[in-house]
Amino acid sequence: MNKSSDAQRMEKIVSLCKRRGFIFQSSEIYGGLNGCWDYGPLGVELKRNLKDYWWRVMVHERDDVVGMDGSILMNRAVWKASGHEDTFTDPMVDCRSCKARLRADQLVEKKGIKQCPNCGGKDLTAPRAFNLMFKTFIGATEDESSLTYLRPETAQAIFVQFKNVLEVSRKKLPFGIAQIGKAFRNEINPRNFTFRSREFEQMELEYFCRAEEGMRWLDYWKEERLKFYENIGIARDNLHALTVPDEERAFYSKGTYDIEYDFPFGRQELEGVAYRTDYDLSQHQKASGKSLEYFDEETKQKFIPHVVEPSAGVDRTVLALICEAYCEDEAPDEKGKMETRIVLRFHPRISPIKCAVFPLLKNKEPLVAKAKEIVALLRPHMYVFYDETGAIGRRYRRQDEIGTPFGVTVDFETLGEKDLALRDTVTLRDRDSMKQERVPVKDLPSILVSRIS
Ligand code: ATP
Repeated sequence: MNKSSDAQRMEKIVSLCKRRGFIFQSSEIYGGLNGCWDYGPLGVELKRNLKDYWWRVMVHERDDVVGMDGSILMNRAVWKASGHEDTFTDPMVDCRSCKARLRADQLVEKKGIKQCPNCGGKDLTAPRAFNLMFKTFIGATEDESSLTYLRPETAQAIFVQFKNVLEVSRKKLPFGIAQIGKAFRNEINPRNFTFRSREFEQMELEYFCRAEEGMRWLDYWKEERLKFYENIGIARDNLHALTVPDEERAFYSKGTYDIEYDFPFGRQELEGVAYRTDYDLSQHQKASGKSLEYFDEETKQKFIPHVVEPSAGVDRTVLALICEAYCEDEAPDEKGKMETRIVLRFHPRISPIKCAVFPLLKNKEPLVAKAKEIVALLRPHMYVFYDETGAIGRRYRRQDEIGTPFGVTVDFETLGEKDLALRDTVTLRDRDSMKQERVPVKDLPSILVSRIS
């Protein structure tokens, strides 16, 4: 696809997200707040399905990982020891012509001269370090002694609780601690819809191991994480594992992969998988004076474990899922004429609504009663939507547009009015193939559960 069609595609995606209630601008009625977004009724379901699936494969389906949920506000000492207070910065440049504030790496370079990407101006300030952490104060006084930060990553809570979690979970190396939660970064230039936000969520695993096994676990987790993205419906061809070159890696990291996705606005990072050595635990041990060592019962040795960290962004993955799913194809309208259909081809596992139930006609009481009975039958197993308004084709189309993978229609056959053999059967329509099959109502829960899990 060329640049302008990619931009158009992105515009359509942003407008669909608003129109159907996936994502809204935060504080919209007051003009918004740059870099902050609200998830509407469908967005929150999509996000929740993503987080639940991550938790399922990273924690519940493994013996070697446990979870935790740390606080967003932490002692300032944490951010001093981790290095964030001194070095969690982006280089910032101001354009003196149009007054834009830019990240130094967003400047464009023409014939060796750096220019402002907004106005083309060449009168730029020298880059200066800008700390991305939001400051806040704890308690009633606003001075240095009460200063702390909103966490810019969830990982540090895991490191500082390492000893407690190790003790209560009675795990042996290698083992991991997983966490999902909000993080905040005062990004200089939030952009590309939710891609670069100031408030976002992360799904992070800190996987502790022996030093000699670090590089092996780094490769293992890179592969596991690629599989994860495929299992939520992202095509392997659109995913890339970039080996971060030595000069771009954090000084303490012995190896890092960026997992990237081909967004309509370019190839961009979804997740970082980094071998962080024993840097974080060592820093916190040094600064707190508390031992964060692991005692190996077999060798009777004490040492600080190394760690491999797959750190994924919830919001970036949600955006990738929507971009990947967005599709326009052709489908027949009420009169059989082909029309353009917008469809979100979500993997059923992450679709916000799993199944829509429709009575063929809303003014035929037995059809409505049967459809409501089916809704009640399915509700304990999945998120179901009931819709009786408009022609059936329109109802399908509304569901296609939000990615509902299955539609159940209750018709006169269901009531056994035409053929007794078809009594208590319904049509089950597949969003992608648009094919319909006739299935017994009693089998619906098991058929659908097997297709959405
Ligand atoms: P970038 O280079 O894009 O700023 P990063 O390398 O600083 O990202 P990490 O610190 O590795 O990001 O954070 C891990 C993950 O958290 C990222 O891969 C991304 O998915 C998510 N993330 C980081 N910053 C943001 C942000 N401003 N908005 C949304 N998600 C983010």
